[in-house]
Amino acid sequence: MNEFDLDPEEVRRLGHRAADIVADHCAGLRGGPVFGKVGTSAALFDEPLPEVGRPADDVLDVARDHVLSHPFGNSHPRFFAFINATADPLGTVADYLASAMNSNCWGGDHAAIHVEDRVIRWIAEILGLPSDAEGILTSGGSMANLTALAVARQAKAPGVREAGFSGTPPLVVYASEEAHTCVDKAVDLLGIGRRQLRIIPTDERFRIRVDELAKAIAGDRQAGRRPAVVVGTGGSVNTGAIDPLGELADLCAREELWLHVDGAYGAMACVSEKLRPLFAGLERADSVAADPHKWLYVPYEAGATLVREPGRLADAFRRPAPYLAHDPDSLVTGPVLFNERGPELSRGFKALKVWMGLKRHGRKGYAATIEHDVAMARFLAEKVRESEDFELLAEPGLSIVNFRYRPSAHPEAGLDRLNRRIVNRLVESGAFFLAPTVVRGRTSLRVAIVNFRTREDDLLALLEEASRAGRELLSES
Ligand SMILES: *Cc1c(COP(=O)(O)O)cnc(C)c1O
Repeated sequence: MNEFDLDPEEVRRLGHRAADIVADHCAGLRGGPVFGKVGTSAALFDEPLPEVGRPADDVLDVARDHVLSHPFGNSHPRFFAFINATADPLGTVADYLASAMNSNCWGGDHAAIHVEDRVIRWIAEILGLPSDAEGILTSGGSMANLTALAVARQAKAPGVREAGFSGTPPLVVYASEEAHTCVDKAVDLLGIGRRQLRIIPTDERFRIRVDELAKAIAGDRQAGRRPAVVVGTGGSVNTGAIDPLGELADLCAREELWLHVDGAYGAMACVSEKLRPLFAGLERADSVAADPHKWLYVPYEAGATLVREPGRLADAFRRPAPYLAHDPDSLVTGPVLFNERGPELSRGFKALKVWMGLKRHGRKGYAATIEHDVAMARFLAEKVRESEDFELLAEPGLSIVNFRYRPSAHPEAGLDRLNRRIVNRLVESGAFFLAPTVVRGRTSLRVAIVNFRTREDDLLALLEEASRAGRELLSES
């Protein structure tokens, strides 16, 4: 036996120690600072490559004391920045089990492939896609969008994998000004070129203007370009806006365009019968990106690409290799070759945490929890409306609220800086984590709630502390 090949009792002992560390970490969350900034402790990580090893217990101690103590904070009930969800502790357990199995999930007739296949079907069902829709779990939304857009590119320019784009009229992709930057990255990486990404303006509720979109498509056709893909957003990062997906589906049907919906943040809300109508039309999309690591609350990482028509993913990604050749009679052959549904060959068992979560909570459990997040956002927006100190900058979309500190009669000048300073002060205090954004040119205190731990009193405390910080900053200046 060597130091890698631990005996089972030692595996058990270390696992128990790790379980204790995890439980203590969870127990300490509410009482501790939200953001575990490393700051001056960075020197702790500044060490040369270890020449010789040390006992596992020592390494575990260091991880407990110096790593787990400095989290980004998104497990904390008062973390409101970006769209970084809180993870279901059951997902932590699932990741432990999955990594113990260490399955390589590119294909084969082993449990992990069946689990991922089932998870994809369940997500398709949540989204309202046909039961034969195909998909793949990805590392996150950015990869899910890239994967879907690669499929769209292949569908709209079938020779492109062999010939590239040389000598052909440019493909054009359309998305709103509120679309996530990963769409831009994907258009770039897929060789479509960012100049062929048309950014369409939005209406007063931050939704894509379908009339402007139609005009842009007509203009491109007239100029001899090939309109190919419309990217609708199902829950924008900035404000939670949902594009009119039904109208986009009509337009795409009329114009023979691929409709992709970036639902990385929002689409899982379709699990709720109450919220589902907001996404009417999503079920008509050709492809959808959705993130289990957002509103299914699984630990990072897990995104998902779903494609309506079977075979399309393989059209874009199949690349036969002799060392992966499979004999149909072989015992190894499994239900799905995930390496033919995306760019990766070796893949981890991300599906287990999603599968265990869906089995544990069911549709209803997720619906109730997502509805709770949305209710918290509406509660906050209501309190902002009632307050003399704050101004709502956008109606809450899903679980995102944009507002700013603006005590009565404070002139516009200086408000942006004041609100940025309020954010910094709140983060510095360790009591909250939010990140500012800009909404229609105004700096916003943006609160995104993808967090089953957040309660009304957390939000009331936020408003109280934000006004206090605002008053202090005004009196200091
Ligand atoms: C979060 C998000 C992304 C990016 O997803 P990652 O998982 O962070 O890569 C893309 N689009 C939208 C709408 C998102 O909310």
